[in-house]
Amino acid sequence: MEELKEASAIVPPERAEIDYNTFVKAAQEVGLVCLHRHFEGTFTLSHLRELSQEISRDLDVDLKLKDETWDSISKIMAGTGERDLPSFIARLSTRWLRLMLIKGVMDGADGHEIIKKYADHFLQLADDEGIKTIEFLLSPFAFCKEGDLGIDYIDDLPKNAPEEEKEIIEQWKLRSAEIDQDNIPTLFSLCGAVNDLIKEKYRVINEDFSDDKRMGVGFRLCLRREKKAEEFLTTEIEETAKRFGGDRSELISQIVELYKAEVIQGVDIAGVESSKDLFLYNKLFTRLDQYGIPCTVHVAEMPESEAEKAYKNLETAIVNSRALRLGHAVRLFDDNAEINALLLQVLKSRTLIECNVTSNGWTGCAPNDLAEHPIIRALRRDHSLFKNNPDRIKELWDCIVICSDDPVIFTSEKESKAFLPLIDEHYKILCVVVPTVYPEKLEAIQRGDENALKEIFTELKTKGEQATLANIK
Ligand SMILES: [Zn+2]
Repeated sequence: MEELKEASAIVPPERAEIDYNTFVKAAQEVGLVCLHRHFEGTFTLSHLRELSQEISRDLDVDLKLKDETWDSISKIMAGTGERDLPSFIARLSTRWLRLMLIKGVMDGADGHEIIKKYADHFLQLADDEGIKTIEFLLSPFAFCKEGDLGIDYIDDLPKNAPEEEKEIIEQWKLRSAEIDQDNIPTLFSLCGAVNDLIKEKYRVINEDFSDDKRMGVGFRLCLRREKKAEEFLTTEIEETAKRFGGDRSELISQIVELYKAEVIQGVDIAGVESSKDLFLYNKLFTRLDQYGIPCTVHVAEMPESEAEKAYKNLETAIVNSRALRLGHAVRLFDDNAEINALLLQVLKSRTLIECNVTSNGWTGCAPNDLAEHPIIRALRRDHSLFKNNPDRIKELWDCIVICSDDPVIFTSEKESKAFLPLIDEHYKILCVVVPTVYPEKLEAIQRGDENALKEIFTELKTKGEQATLANIK
């Protein structure tokens, strides 16, 4: 555990001494719920290496990369030390999953089988953690024909790109005519492949589970604001839709079909928030609403210096988008008159906040000291709306669901297999807030009373399960 703490971005607070082992045991016994975890934010370098070997063997293709490429991937995934959202996103595995997919398809593999292998690995990790219900975020446009795999508009590579990556992408462009098109996933077929895997191995999130003890799984289609591939879903882009070969109405119809077929649970808007104001998606929100498609948004995941922009986005999310849940929402807790009015509205409507505090330090939206995170401070009543209002603190707690976002960011490479990212997130948060939110249980927990912890986990789990889109739509 020692290396792990060193590797972590956030110093575990010492507000309440809770025995970690008792904590883990209680959490695993009750089971956890995660409503906000990115597919592309979960694979560490060693997961990628394992996948490359496993897929090469099982699908009889060559997915292996050169040692110098792995070294370079390792450096890129470790990050530059910058704390902002673009640097954070650059550390995720999206680019490398895509590279291996392209390499496999050029080698004759069916891309859908590769995607299923990725999904299998992702879900196995969650299952090993003791998660009982997961609604994860998949950005299919990173891996499909209509998105970043489109031959003409694949991302421009950064200067430090490994030579082998450049070569593979160059080949991909040159050999486009000879590639079997059926092997390249489309938005529709890719989501279908992931859904098939879920049905084969797990319980679908909205199905009755009285006799089925397997992990319940669903996913949202996650759109990335900063990507050209998804630009056509905003209002100003009729032009770019044509330029990038995307037909907006056709793709929106496909999203509707995917939802109706119960392949996706809903739609989420993520990515670099400063790159596109949320109101540009108003037309999309209207369309989603028209078809009853649940929507969640990443919002106010911005540093204090961009508070005004974050407030505008929060207003759009809360007033216009009818978002059923808000991801991050850090700036909603800035505690000033302007933003407190919106926070009261969130409490009143019981809109869930997917709280991902570990990521917020790395994206520069919150201090590295977890105890100083705006949401944790509010839960500790260090906020004018909650200071002398125990009922309201209960309301706030009812709106918070603890999630893990991108475990790759806070999981050390060495411990990636054995470490339980979501449990660690719960542990850190509860260590700080337990004395305020569960004062009556604190003494029992400190005594090592597992039952007191299990009661807390049961409450968290019930709340999380009720908040799945399958339940609230
Ligand atoms: Zn996220």
